[in-house]
Parts: sequence; structure tokens; C-alpha cells
Amino acid sequence: MGKAKRIIVVGGGIGGAAAALALHQAGFEPVVYERSNALREVGAGIALWANATHILQRLGLLEDAMQVGYPTTNYQFNSQYGRELVNIPLDGFELPVIGIHRAELHQLLWRNVPNEMFMLGQTFERFEQEGGQVRAHFASGLTVEGDALIGADGLRSRVRAVLLDDRPPTYRHFKTWRGLTNYVPKGHRPGYIQEFLGPGKGFGFMRLGKERMYWYAAAIAPESQPDTAIGRRRELEQMFQDWVPSIPELIAATDEADILTTDLYDRLPTQPWSQQNVTLLGDAAHPMLPTMGQGACTALEDAWVITQCLQTHSDPVTAFQQYESLRFPRTKEIVEQSLRSARMGELTNPVAVALRNTVMKLMSPLICKSFRSLHIYRA
Ligand SMILES: Cc1cc2nc3c(=O)[nH]c(=O)nc-3n(C[C@H](O)[C@H](O)[C@H](O)COP(=O)(O)OP(=O)(O)OC[C@H]3O[C@@H](n4cnc5c(N)ncnc54)[C@H](O)[C@@H]3O)c2cc1C
Repeated sequence: MGKAKRIIVVGGGIGGAAAALALHQAGFEPVVYERSNALREVGAGIALWANATHILQRLGLLEDAMQVGYPTTNYQFNSQYGRELVNIPLDGFELPVIGIHRAELHQLLWRNVPNEMFMLGQTFERFEQEGGQVRAHFASGLTVEGDALIGADGLRSRVRAVLLDDRPPTYRHFKTWRGLTNYVPKGHRPGYIQEFLGPGKGFGFMRLGKERMYWYAAAIAPESQPDTAIGRRRELEQMFQDWVPSIPELIAATDEADILTTDLYDRLPTQPWSQQNVTLLGDAAHPMLPTMGQGACTALEDAWVITQCLQTHSDPVTAFQQYESLRFPRTKEIVEQSLRSARMGELTNPVAVALRNTVMKLMSPLICKSFRSLHIYRA
């Protein structure tokens, strides 16, 4: 098989955008096919830990990301009433940790990809492999041919469905709400991601800019639970009314239209996720719960590693085998850790919650160590 040059990337989220950029910089010819008519991301924030800012540095984007993001120094877990349980220092690495708006990260990646390398409004349907080539078919009737195809089409990946024909992702009994506001609660420590844990629910917030806060909440809920008649903001105000005052204040200071809800899913890690010259990346390959905040960060790592592998091995089949063997153990560990961490949040009995909090406090050094081991990784 010849050297891979023309790479079809399905999906232009953070993973697809990073892959397009890394491949373009390395001299490949990627084209991203995105089903939406615009390149956009949801209105929410994200923490880019040192393992992810390392990739931004490799892509030459770290300075720009620091301009638009906010430096993050600590990740603190508290009881719902504000008793500190664990405080993880994040500033002991050679790289910064940044709180950033998802759309700004997305734009940063896209800004450096030439226009002719993405096609909007193209919904991927199926592919076929023949003679070392891959042909992709889209709902519009478009058919394109490339040397390799990367499915970066997210949690409900169509590329994955065609490739593996496996089960749908698993609902993990949590619903989330995310919001953005310009209100900064009094006493908020700049640089801190603060999370508060209560019975069957939790709340967290961080700064994305000097006067911009991103908050998130999670609670046990049945799948696809509709909003209540009182609206998202009122519902959240009731759910968190007796928690530390910053929480109801942040909720009250957010417009109803700026509150997103999302159900949480993952998949138990399985291999393979590649077949000859077709592979998966990001949520398509290893969807995880957001408890460790690593979904987008590992998608960035994937994008970097896949490019390295394609540079090392001229044959995409070997490159994708190497990519998967490098990425599977790392992402498996994080998917599993994210699920374990979510299970700790499922406790609803007040006695069990109090016990969990005591154990967390006692295990604080171990918890710090386990986060550090994820953040210290350099793809
Ligand atoms: C509540 C919540 C909080 C989170 N917080 C964090 C965090 O703090 N840090 C972190 O690192 N991660 C976080 N994540 C995870 C992160 O959002 C995802 O892991 C990441 O966005 C995955 O990127 P992706 O590019 O793989 O997929 P996606 O972002 O889902 O992108 C897939 C793209 O493919 C397109 N697409 C889909 N199907 C097709 C098709 N058939 N044809 C063409 N295009 C298609 C979609 O339109 C989309 O643009 C969080 C997730 C949730 C739900």
C-alpha cells in the first residue's frame, strides 16, 4: 500500500478540527466533512489540563490559547456546604492549565486550517474499502475517495456504526446542566475550579476570563428527562437552594437561554476501533463521562498521535494499528476512572455521603496523585 496523503475526516468537532490541523501541518491533505452548516461549539467551558496544553503547544497554539483562556491553578472538591475535601494543585507542571470557552478553542483550531480543507453540510452515511482506498458516501449524494478515513463524529458516530456495528452508548443515569454568566461570586478564588458534592448531585464552577464564569451541575435522572414546567433556572435554584451561597447566586445570574442540558453516556472500552485504513478518534472511539474532564483533552491527544503514526508509517493500515495500540490503554484507564468517579456521585443516603466525604478527605493525597498521573502524560 502507498503512502497515505488524502485523509477523509468525518466530523468537525474539537477532535476533527485538531486532527485536520495536525495533519495539515505535517503535510497531509485532510478534508473534514461536517454535517452542520456552520463550524460551532456549544456555549460552555472546558478545562485544558497540562496533557492537553502540551498538544496546543505542539500545534503552535498555546500562546493564543493563553490569551483567550484563564490560567487555572487548583482543582478543589468540597462538601455541599463548602468544607474542603481535596485541593489538587495544578501549577506544578512545565505547562499551564487553562479554562477556556469551547467555541474559542474550536475557533483557535479552525483558524489555522485552510478553507478548502473543510466541507460543511455533509452528513456521512457509509464507506467502502477497495484496493487500498476508501470511498465515503454522504447524504447529499457526494462520494469522495481518500487513502484513509478518520471517524471523528462524536458519541453517536456513524463511522463507528458502519465499522463495528456495536451497541449504542450506555446511559449512566446522570443529567447535566451547563451555564455561562458574567457574574463572579464574592470570594471566588481566581484560578480555582471549585466542585461541591452532595447527595446524588454536584455543582462546579471555574473562570474562563476575568469576568466570565462557567458552571456545571449534574444530578441523577432518568434518560431524556424533559425540563420541568418552571424552567431550568428555577429547577436548579430549587435543587441547590441550601448549598453554598455562590451556587444559587451563579444560577440566578444566568439567562435561561444560556443553560444547556445534556444526558451522560459512555462506552466500556473495547478493541478494535480500526479496520485497515479506517479508524476512530475522540468520542467516536472512547466516549467517557466528564467527571475527569478529559473527553476533549484526549481527543486532542488522539489527533496528535494519529498524525505522528501516519508520519512514521507510510502505510495507513500499520499507522492506525500503532495509533490504536498507543491510545487504547490510556483512554481505557480514563474511561474507567471517569465511571468510578461518577459512581461515587450516585450516593444519595446522607450517611453514605458523609462517609464518602470523610474518605475523600482521608484519601486526598491519593486523589491528587491519580489526577497528576493523568495530567503528567505527554502524548
Ligand atoms: C457536560 C459535559 C462536560 C464536559 N466537560 C469536559 C471538560 O471539561 N473537558 C474535556 O476535555 N471534555 C469535556 N467533555 C467531553 C467533550 O465535550 C467531548 O469529549 C469532546 O467534545 C469530543 O469531541 P469530538 O470531536 O470527539 O466529538 P464532538 O464534539 O461530538 O464532534 C463530533 C462532530 O461530528 C459531527 N458529526 C456527527 N455525525 C456526523 C456525520 N454523520 N457526518 C458528518 N459529521 C457528523 C458533529 O456535528 C460534530 O461537529 C464534556 C462533555 C459533557 C457532556
